[in-house]
Amino acid sequence: MSSPRPTTTNAGIPVASDDHSLTAGSNGPILLQDHYLIEKNAQFNRERVPERVVHAKGGGAFGFFETTEDVSQYTKAALFQPGAKTEALIRFSSVAGELGSPDTWRDPRGTAIKFYTSEGNYDLVGNNTPVFFIRDAIKFPDFIRSQKRRADNHLRDHDMQWDFWTHCPESAHQVTWLMGDRGIPKTWRNMNLYGSHTFMWENAKGEKFWVKYHFKTDQGHDFLTQEEADRLAGEDSDAHIRDLWTSIKSGNNPSWTLYVQVMPIEEAPDYRFNPFDLTKVWPHGDYPLIKVGRFVLNRNPENYFAQIEQAAFEPSNMVPGIGPSPDKMLQGRLFSYPDAHRYRIGPNYMDLPVNRPTAQVNSYAKDGPMRYSYGQDPVYAPNSYGGPHADTTQGTEHSPQGIEEEVVRSAYQLHAEDDDFGQAGTLVREVFSDEERQRFVNNVAGHLSKGVSQPILERALQYWRNVDKDTGDKIAEKVQN
Ligand code: NDP
Repeated sequence: MSSPRPTTTNAGIPVASDDHSLTAGSNGPILLQDHYLIEKNAQFNRERVPERVVHAKGGGAFGFFETTEDVSQYTKAALFQPGAKTEALIRFSSVAGELGSPDTWRDPRGTAIKFYTSEGNYDLVGNNTPVFFIRDAIKFPDFIRSQKRRADNHLRDHDMQWDFWTHCPESAHQVTWLMGDRGIPKTWRNMNLYGSHTFMWENAKGEKFWVKYHFKTDQGHDFLTQEEADRLAGEDSDAHIRDLWTSIKSGNNPSWTLYVQVMPIEEAPDYRFNPFDLTKVWPHGDYPLIKVGRFVLNRNPENYFAQIEQAAFEPSNMVPGIGPSPDKMLQGRLFSYPDAHRYRIGPNYMDLPVNRPTAQVNSYAKDGPMRYSYGQDPVYAPNSYGGPHADTTQGTEHSPQGIEEEVVRSAYQLHAEDDDFGQAGTLVREVFSDEERQRFVNNVAGHLSKGVSQPILERALQYWRNVDKDTGDKIAEKVQN
């Protein structure tokens, strides 16, 4: 039977059958000559790229960011100039679970955004929380291992989670957040997105500022209780992917309003919290939210693997007018993300359509596995043949802060109110409602009651008493009864 779209090999050659391999007689062995059968199975064996070590399970969508306000006094970045509208992609994810894990496990959510700006790709690789468990990238592999699986039985293990958290009291703020209502969002649409780190903004006059990004959900916050999440984990482990997909498909396009907090550079040394410490927020009363614009998702991917699984986000992609801060977690991620992509997808991952900038690329990068785009001679710089050369007035190099100081391995300088438990206590006492505090006590006690041994349990109870004495006592009472 002739078909308008005959099946072909990967080389475009029509194949003889979708159903039968080529054999010596109908009961005989398969011939090596059946190139199509071999190609089909060999390709199948290679369908996966390694899953991300962290943030493996996720989903995403395309949309745009529109700058509705004038923040040009703080940054010259083209995407944040009044009226600018920029195509964008976001990938939401959980952190510790593997590719098939339930969307509703209690975990922070990754919120990696790629803005395809006129000045090159800008990636803001954040989370749905404004803080994090640790403040120095040297602890990151240890932290993640403690949240994933044991070496012996390959099980997740609350004992090792609490062992790590209580050995690292700087985790208290993030763990408090995690055990609160926002620790399991109802959908990805019902949560805020944060840049989390402190970044640098620079205006056209060369003036610099420290900034924090807050994308506030326009859908309103909503969450799942532990019981609801546990049930959904069994009934629909892809609940968050499904929700995003079906809501965009039905024209119910989610949006967020971007605000920033801006700190003049000269205020940083004497601010009451070290402004680069990722375990701390800048209270809104100190640095109020300044509105910037609107982020809208309006297009589902056409192909999950090509556009979401192979999407590569890296905090090191910063455009003119935006730079890094000395945040030690951010500094570590500047290296780790592109390194992970080279390993996971291959050195030419930037050549894939989803990762390719819409801005013109004039790089001297060349060759390597799966190279698709190519330049022309000359293939080196400097040269006498009209090849691209750097414009020193446009470049994105930012003089790192503090480099005149001696090279040390030390903690951050402590500012007046820096301690590990203070802001976590504020969250419990001043932000949580009475009902939420009660659910929080239940969540922590429930978690601690699943396999946490002594002396880790005792340390965990003390950890919560340090956050808030009364709450810690209530958790202890619940765990011990
Ligand atoms: P504010 O009273 O000015 O703001 C409270 C913040 O807490 C708001 O951003 C609010 O988000 C958020 N919030 C409300 N309920 C919860 C919850 N259940 N879990 C987590 N966050 C919640 O206080 P401060 O700025 O002085 O901050 C106090 C505490 O609030 C901090 O220690 C921190 O834990 C938390 N927080 C602070 C943020 C900041 O950037 N300052 C950002 C997010 C949390 P929303 O307005 O979207 O409802």
